[in-house]
Amino acid sequence: MNILLATSNSHKLGEVQAILGLQGIVVVGLNETERLIDEPIEDADTFAGNARLKAAGYAKATGKRCMADDSGLVVDALGGEPGIFSARYAGIGESREERDAANNELLLTNLSKRGESESPARFVCALCVADPDGTIVAESEGAFEGVITTTPRGVHGFGYDPLLFLPDVGMTSAELSEEEKNARSHRSVALRKIIPLIT
Ligand code: IMP
Repeated sequence: MNILLATSNSHKLGEVQAILGLQGIVVVGLNETERLIDEPIEDADTFAGNARLKAAGYAKATGKRCMADDSGLVVDALGGEPGIFSARYAGIGESREERDAANNELLLTNLSKRGESESPARFVCALCVADPDGTIVAESEGAFEGVITTTPRGVHGFGYDPLLFLPDVGMTSAELSEEEKNARSHRSVALRKIIPLIT
């Protein structure tokens, strides 16, 4: 089976390829041509709603079975922020690295404004698979629990990984190897749930 993954994020693509590859599913990312397709507007108010919009939008536009994810960080002490706005929380930065750095800084500033230092938090991932006519064929959700740390650590991964401390291993998500993260991440939990629904 071939699936188009509606992302140009190489970290996400690698994680999904590693897990679905074991099931014999070939996952391709958005190539240069498909990146020219107008991105569906992500205006739903839940991760699941945005994943649905992206999966159906890209499936219809490309004529391919398409998987989309919507993910983000939910911080309890911030009332669930940044949530669905995780990627564009600070609203600045040209490159992904610049946006990630600005988002992480704003998160810590907002926590300290509320007099909080650490807070329970989790990455959440909603997955959706749509057929070429836009029919939704499967959906799932996964979470990756941790605690926000005020001392970012680690160089792996992307986004808020350096801020999510995992008490059981005494490391942040950015200190995990790719294999260690793939074994427990929100995306891998959601992927493992969706595999039986699409195979
Ligand atoms: P999306 O690409 O619209 O799903 O936005 C997801 C955003 O949530 C990313 O830009 C990151 O800021 C954050 N995020 C999602 N998954 C992860 C992860 O595995 N590690 C770190 N940050 C993540």
